[in-house]
Amino acid sequence: MIIAVDGPSGAGKSTVARILARKLGSLYIDTGAMYRALTLKALENKIPVSDEKQINGLAAAVKIDLRNNPDGSLSVMLDGRDVSLDIRQPRITRFVSDVAKIKEVREIMVKMQRELGHKKDCVLDGRDIGTVVFPDAQKKFFIDATPKVRVERRFKELKGLGQDVTINDVENDLSNRDKIDSTRQVSPLRKAEDAIYIDTSDLSIEQVVDKMLEFIK
Ligand code: C5P
Repeated sequence: MIIAVDGPSGAGKSTVARILARKLGSLYIDTGAMYRALTLKALENKIPVSDEKQINGLAAAVKIDLRNNPDGSLSVMLDGRDVSLDIRQPRITRFVSDVAKIKEVREIMVKMQRELGHKKDCVLDGRDIGTVVFPDAQKKFFIDATPKVRVERRFKELKGLGQDVTINDVENDLSNRDKIDSTRQVSPLRKAEDAIYIDTSDLSIEQVVDKMLEFIK
């Protein structure tokens, strides 16, 4: 069974998708982590994100692996190296949407995601899972929350990772990514017609997961 979980940044998608996958014994695929890993590779190679030709070359050559660990965490491997923490750095967050809007990059990533998803039951989270990657997914969710709640959640999460960010930084980042992700030409962020919409603003993580499980059963 394939379960698609889409929605804007900071709505809590990855947290609930990871828990859901664990409860169902499915693989968890964080597709945002794949775009982040490619962005890290570009920055490490000093390739500007506007240089589409070189970024496409990197995307075609890169090896990205997602490992589901027994403790429920996810390790993101870039060419055999664990980059799980590096990809959460602000410099990656700042540029990832510019990399993710490139048509060829999306084609390559979508192909990788389909290959991963066909191996086993899985829960994928992203922006275009229900619309493009797996339009035939058995269950689709669109996870949302008010901008204020999303900023607060992301702020707490980054502070938890030890990052020196302000509410203002997080607010700017989210509105910037929301804008790029929802207005880009190729597979912009939008709710699939048959996706179940869940506003998580006033719900706890457990409540959201329980709601999703009810729909799945
Ligand atoms: O989910 P996360 O915030 O880590 O995603 C980082 C970025 O990757 C998003 O802002 C978006 O630009 C891009 N992305 C995408 N399509 C996906 C997943 C993520 O364009 N399926």
